[in-house]
Amino acid sequence: MRSLIDGIGMTSQRTRDRLVERLQEQGVRDPTVLEVMRRTPRHLFVDEALASRAYEDTALPIGHGQTISQPYVVARMSELVVAGGAPEKVLEVGTGSGYQAAVLAQLVSRVYSVERIEELQQQARQRFRALGLRNIRLQHSDGAGGWESAAPFGAIVVTAGSEDIPQSLLTQLAPGGRLVMPVGDRGRQSLVMVTRRETVYERVDLEPVSFVPLRQGAT
Ligand code: SAH
Repeated sequence: MRSLIDGIGMTSQRTRDRLVERLQEQGVRDPTVLEVMRRTPRHLFVDEALASRAYEDTALPIGHGQTISQPYVVARMSELVVAGGAPEKVLEVGTGSGYQAAVLAQLVSRVYSVERIEELQQQARQRFRALGLRNIRLQHSDGAGGWESAAPFGAIVVTAGSEDIPQSLLTQLAPGGRLVMPVGDRGRQSLVMVTRRETVYERVDLEPVSFVPLRQGAT
């Protein structure tokens, strides 16, 4: 999908190219995901004071005790979402800076993203507008309840960790759909993928990750 992103942020293109090389070394293979990572200006998703660190492969603070996810994890989750064909509709729980949503929005037709902290949501909305990303819908609520009126989703990505997978999210998965989420105690989470089959849910534990916790309620 073309957007203003194609013409923006050329100044850091070389650092972004290096980031993509590192992602490849770490095992990210999907060419479309790599291309989207190459052109998405991550420095616009963090505070100006941190912009020079935007292409390091680390999580960075975005205020309210939250973080923008590490590029490797964003690429990995995106790869899991599109493996076997890009779904039409994806739900993200935890908009945060909006970076993961911006990457997904260039891979699928429509992204629905839920955030519990209103100020973060508003900042993300401004970034999407500035970048010309028009296929992202935002909602301010506790994402554990998903987004009932837009369900079912071909994929659900949760970008905050919890010991349990919220039941509503599982029921909002389309048949064949997949949920990707960090599951476990803080500090001991693994990236889990659940695929909805006709009558059963199949779970695979993939690799250790470290995310901020999923919290209840909206502020
Ligand atoms: N995807 C984000 C990652 C942000 S960190 C990015 O690319 O920047 C996780 C986010 O999840 C935080 O913004 C946090 O406020 C939000 N969050 C935590 N619990 C939530 C919940 N129950 N519902 C919605 N958002 C939640």
